[in-house]
Amino acid sequence: MNSSSEFLNQILDVIENKIAPITSEYVKEGNMYFGGAIVKKDDLSLVCADSNKMTEWLLLHGEVSCLRTYNALPAEGKPEAADCIMVSTHEPCALCLAAITWSGFNKMYFLFRSGFNKMYFLFSYEDYKPVFDCTKILKEVFGSETGGYRRENSYWSSYHIAELVEALPEGEEKKALQSRVSALRVRYDGINKVFEDSAKAKGITFPRTAGED
Ligand SMILES: [Zn+2]
Repeated sequence: MNSSSEFLNQILDVIENKIAPITSEYVKEGNMYFGGAIVKKDDLSLVCADSNKMTEWLLLHGEVSCLRTYNALPAEGKPEAADCIMVSTHEPCALCLAAITWSGFNKMYFLFRSGFNKMYFLFSYEDYKPVFDCTKILKEVFGSETGGYRRENSYWSSYHIAELVEALPEGEEKKALQSRVSALRVRYDGINKVFEDSAKAKGITFPRTAGED
């Protein structure tokens, strides 16, 4: 794990400059505000970035969308997944965790945990009732008693960027990183607002999961 302030700043650069601008456009079409990027481990240069495209297909979560883009890259010069890092704006859900695993990535970093069990459901715009919940999937399908998963396992290690920032020694570098995380939280609140407004305006209602009331 790399948790130096230099590394964390570079990962935040990727979210700020590569993922968020793409997401800011796609939310206008009613797509959700989650995004992902793939960067090379050695120099953190961008391989590709993409955003949730649920209006195209419900399963195109931010990470899956990014994996699709990665898969479509020309073979020549395309780095191996094992030589790359998966970056997510929000904690990957069960679908994305499986997709990332199948794709061969062994390191992932995500910025916010807030998407995981609170917002990671599909809304019905009439009443905003949660109809899909990742924690419930992990319990029901994967038998996880807590609804959690193992951030360290034989396939990959996953790190929560905001937690890594909080674990840094006190000082100016930590304060600067905390400010960047706070600013991104505000930015993503704004991106989410665009998503909600555009989805409502377009009358987008994601399908309810069978068995839900
Ligand atoms: Zn997902």
